[in-house]
Amino acid sequence: MNKNFSPEFIEARKKDLLKIKKRVEDEISHISDCSLKKDEECQAKFPNYGDKEEDNATEVGVYEDYTSLETSLNKLFKEVNTALEKIENGNYGKCNNCSKLIAKKRLEAFPAAPLCIDCERKEEKK
Ligand SMILES: [Zn+2]
Repeated sequence: MNKNFSPEFIEARKKDLLKIKKRVEDEISHISDCSLKKDEECQAKFPNYGDKEEDNATEVGVYEDYTSLETSLNKLFKEVNTALEKIENGNYGKCNNCSKLIAKKRLEAFPAAPLCIDCERKEEKK
């Protein structure tokens, strides 16, 4: 039982998180041959457009897009899973860094947010 937020709030965030998880899984399936599993990362596949020189150049460009997308999708997938675990454990909404409660508005905008806004800002400055 989560004492920090109402059950309705938690339920709504859980729905959001499951939606995001589904979207991330869909997106990764377009750029990778693997499917996302907990504690595993997917690697972008190398696209194959053909054997001509311009094809190869396109492939390298697309592959670069794939890998940067892959990095953010893997990260988001982890954050979503962690947030879902925190819901199960009854500590959803706590900042991973300082254990303070994350603002409700922030959780509505980023249900998988691992950090409170103060810690997030500190991370960005690093
Ligand atoms: Zn914090």
